[in-house]
Amino acid sequence: MISDEELIYLDNNATTQIDPAVLEEMLPFLQKFYGNPSSGYRFGSQVRQAIDRARERLANLLGCDPSEIVFTSCGTESNNAAIDSALQFEPRNKHIVSSAVEHSAVRRHCEDLAKRGCEVTFLGVDQDGNIDLAELQNAIQPRTAIVSLMWANNETGVLFPIEKIAQICREKRVLFHTDAVQVVGKIPICLRQSSINFLSLSAHKFHGPKGVGALYISKKSRFRPSIIGGGQENGRRAGTENVASIVALGKAAERAAECITEEQERVRAMRDRFENAILEKVNGAAINGARAPRLFNTSSISFAGIDSPAALMLLDRHRICCSAGSACRTGSTESSHVLRAMQLSDERARGALRFSFGRFNTPADLDQACEIIPQVIEKLRALSSSSPTNVQPQPALQMLT
Ligand code: PLP
Repeated sequence: MISDEELIYLDNNATTQIDPAVLEEMLPFLQKFYGNPSSGYRFGSQVRQAIDRARERLANLLGCDPSEIVFTSCGTESNNAAIDSALQFEPRNKHIVSSAVEHSAVRRHCEDLAKRGCEVTFLGVDQDGNIDLAELQNAIQPRTAIVSLMWANNETGVLFPIEKIAQICREKRVLFHTDAVQVVGKIPICLRQSSINFLSLSAHKFHGPKGVGALYISKKSRFRPSIIGGGQENGRRAGTENVASIVALGKAAERAAECITEEQERVRAMRDRFENAILEKVNGAAINGARAPRLFNTSSISFAGIDSPAALMLLDRHRICCSAGSACRTGSTESSHVLRAMQLSDERARGALRFSFGRFNTPADLDQACEIIPQVIEKLRALSSSSPTNVQPQPALQMLT
């Protein structure tokens, strides 16, 4: 087993290290406090209270009412549940608007629904990963059941203008869901003042454990559950609660609320220093989505003349963890659907690596990464037929650098 002490972990969009304070709060619910929260005696009701507290902590982070939160098993479940619910109310409304750059938890689900009789419009993006709001307005039809668009892209960090999108959907009287898995805990959110109907999140992206998430359902939105059984989560998600993980999610939300301002500044400074160093040291490197509003922790960089799977292997030998596109696609030879949707060349998509920073990265991690990565890229280029000197950045690369 490789211990995290030996790693330079630059893959915080894939998952994050559990915060020690979160782990501490979670453990008693795997040991001493094993009562069922639905049981009537005090041994059970104290567990119910711990769940209620987690709900309050998360509601505080999101600026919403605790009753608007439903705990789920992950971000994927939350995404699926919001979309599926919207399709249940009006049998004639079987049209979904989404985008070509969504995480597979939305994209694949929509593709599957399309095979089963729904119509899906996947909006395209420009070279910087931005969506066109006029195109969104035009895509919404009387038959549209829901618009589902991500808040921040997991590969590039590009942010969609979610509040404007929510406003458009409200004016058009169509439900709006956002996959906010990459932004919750990272940017301030106040749902009380927004027109968002549904929002998905996942604890392991903000220093909580894997296998627990939540779906925000605004008070004004109708919802029909996908998982039916006992009346847990106020009848909106059946199944005995994953108590320890829910408690942990609550604590992770509390920690995020405490750290958000300081962390944003510190991590942004780290990411910016990293990007500047890489652009300075490596020829033919370009930031994907550089001109778009971007999440402060994410850096998607294309290196001309390399193949990202080979780069990942070599970086792994140097104990640097990063990814080629999203973690879910590692092992696949297909290039990123996000970078392809941004109309980047095949070469540019093939040479893309995603680095994502987080709470536990240190300046020492950064210094080492800035030393090792240029050497690895140089080595890869020397190994391939093209040498560093004859790697000519393409026009698109030069334009975006
Ligand atoms: N949505 C986005 C944008 C993600 O980045 C991820 C995870 O990578 C998910 C959804 C899926 O979340 P989970 O792993 O909790 O199912």
